[in-house]
Amino acid sequence: MLTQAPKGTSDILPSQSGKWQYLEGLFRDICGRYGMKEIRTPMFEHTELFVRGVGDTTDVVEKQMYSFDDLGGRNLTLKPEGTSPAARAFVQNGLFKEMQPTKMYYITPCFRYEKMQKGRYRQFHQFGTEIFGTESPVADAEIVSVAADMLEAVGMKEVELRINSVGCPVCRAKHREALKAFLEPKYGQLCSTCQGRFNKNPMRILDCKDCQKIVEGAPMMIDYLCEECSSHFEEFQSILKDMDIPFIVDPGIVRGLDYYTKTAFEFVSTKGMAQGTVCGGGRYDHLVEQIGGPEPPGVGFGMGIERLMLMLSEEGIEVPEEASVDYMVITMGDKARSFGIALARKLRKKGRSVQMDMMGRNFKNQFKYANRIGAKKAIIIGDDEVAAGAFSVKDMETGEQITVSAEDTEQL
Ligand code: ATP
Ligand code: MG
Repeated sequence: MLTQAPKGTSDILPSQSGKWQYLEGLFRDICGRYGMKEIRTPMFEHTELFVRGVGDTTDVVEKQMYSFDDLGGRNLTLKPEGTSPAARAFVQNGLFKEMQPTKMYYITPCFRYEKMQKGRYRQFHQFGTEIFGTESPVADAEIVSVAADMLEAVGMKEVELRINSVGCPVCRAKHREALKAFLEPKYGQLCSTCQGRFNKNPMRILDCKDCQKIVEGAPMMIDYLCEECSSHFEEFQSILKDMDIPFIVDPGIVRGLDYYTKTAFEFVSTKGMAQGTVCGGGRYDHLVEQIGGPEPPGVGFGMGIERLMLMLSEEGIEVPEEASVDYMVITMGDKARSFGIALARKLRKKGRSVQMDMMGRNFKNQFKYANRIGAKKAIIIGDDEVAAGAFSVKDMETGEQITVSAEDTEQL
């Protein structure tokens, strides 16, 4: 028990974190190209934020939240997603009063009490982006474009973009009636959660993983769009074409969070994996209002980092590691060791990554170790070399070896 992390969580070990850092660096870089700046919000929020923001008939709020009372009696929840906290921060800090749009990105753990499966965990991580303050479909397309750039940059090929429009409160009212009429005769077959949703929020039933068979053939939101939503969706598609981003219109995309309006999209694996959605997002024009703020609309996505890694490995793509060892300093003898320690410190101050043995390995094994850790070069120092005021530098890949004078370490 003590040496076992809680179910659904995992450690990112030192041997794996290089890959995470690589992906994080890439994501930051791509967001920067779109003028997005990072936001970091707390790991927990008032529970009410998610109940209002994500929606009280969603799976996330009904079944998956890690909520608790703190010692001061406040009901708090570990964040299950990043958009509601970002919207809360947008309001609380008065960002809506500044020049718009407000573009931001985040990299965060999320917490959901879910049934553990491959690609589905209780603590997972997301890359996310948000653009607040504009209804323009250019923003929707830029959000999609960030995700597409990220997937392309890591070399993912077997993925497709599926888009839909889930309308606005005006057109949803009509769809809701049609959907209820369709579901009414099947009410008895719905799972108990969905029976509870029938009157409160029947569209949620379309997204229920247990009721997929029952909703086959149900009326689709896309056929009920009002003029404004319909022309927004048309324009969004035409901008995606301008951007040369291929997509498929999929009327079945509903998304699991209540705050979505108009645009909804997913990037899905074409390999038919069970948890094949790597990225999901859309527009949320009433979220800020819903949590008690002013009216600014918004659009964003969340991309699951563990899922991204799983899908990359399914495609046989190796994520490069950021960290690399420039030099392994290999020494033989006490004088050499002391010289090597001083040299290593000097090189590290210059920004080089340098390793030295601290396990008492002999000369041969220090070389083996240099190979194992992937050192680019070995600096070889013996007592004789110290006396002669020079040492050797060996390129571990080509085997080429040069002599460097102790006075001339600037070139390293
Ligand atoms: P799903 O339909 O797979 O449950 P969702 O609609 O709940 O996904 P979002 O809330 O939109 O997902 O989250 C965005 C992304 O975060 C997902 O596309 C997925 O890549 C990832 N994600 C969501 N839940 C989990 C989880 N429990 N474990 C790992 N990754 C997750
Ligand atoms: Mg889910």
